[in-house]
Amino acid sequence: MNKSTLLLGAHLSTAGGLHRSIKTAQELNCTAIQIFTHSNRQWAFKLPLLDAVEEFIAAKNNSTVKTIIVHASYLMNPASPDKDSRNRAVKMLKMELQTCSILEIPYLVLHPGSRLESATKVALSNCADSINYSLEKNEGAKILIENMAGQGSTIGSKLEELQEIYYHIEQKERVGFCFDTCHAFAAGYIFTTEESYGSFWKEFDTLLDIRKLHAIHINDSLKPLGSNVDRHAHIGKGRIDLKAFELIMNDERFNNTAKILETPKGQGLEEDSMNLSKLISLIK
Ligand SMILES: [Zn+2]
Ligand SMILES: [Zn+2]
Repeated sequence: MNKSTLLLGAHLSTAGGLHRSIKTAQELNCTAIQIFTHSNRQWAFKLPLLDAVEEFIAAKNNSTVKTIIVHASYLMNPASPDKDSRNRAVKMLKMELQTCSILEIPYLVLHPGSRLESATKVALSNCADSINYSLEKNEGAKILIENMAGQGSTIGSKLEELQEIYYHIEQKERVGFCFDTCHAFAAGYIFTTEESYGSFWKEFDTLLDIRKLHAIHINDSLKPLGSNVDRHAHIGKGRIDLKAFELIMNDERFNNTAKILETPKGQGLEEDSMNLSKLISLIK
């Protein structure tokens, strides 16, 4: 991979204003970043004000950041068996999509949600319905469905489940995928040797289409293979063989795919800086 065209960065804080994330990105030499556009702990949120939007877009245009991704709030459950919960999720998703449009952001990453007491098949179809409603009467950002670790009753830890959600999607051009290495490993997927890496992505391509993959969350896993526990770790300090990250960093199919760290953070930028350097050191 050519280091100058690399799309690499981290999930960054917007504390102090949306544009702060771009400033931090510059300090870390990121070319791609992920942000939350509002507090992840509150249902109610407002669209960003014009001043904040202009400041953010100007900062972005004057930076080396080429791709920005928004991660949708964890609060919503688009797969819930409860219609009111799904309606709240749709309402929030519409707001998230509108925020992306205003900020000229192309991708919104979404967790497919939890089935709770419903059957997986029903939850997958409910999730697709929520996505379909949220995409009605608007244009702009694509929703990227993220693979999950399979903790509790969350859906979407198996590629077949993501395939089924996608099957029910009406505006297929508005939906793609985000692949989280920690979640996949915790869900039992092996992609840590040349051979297993090759067959994993072949399966991904067959079930989901590799061209629909627009983001990779590049995280090591604190918990072992197949544990179904979602605990991110620093690159090289968890259970995923470093070889897996080397293969991803050198995979030309992912040249245009944003690679985003969601690894633990400390007070400053040292941790992100350390993980970014580690990943760059793996590029041949
Ligand atoms: Zn996520
Ligand atoms: Zn993730």
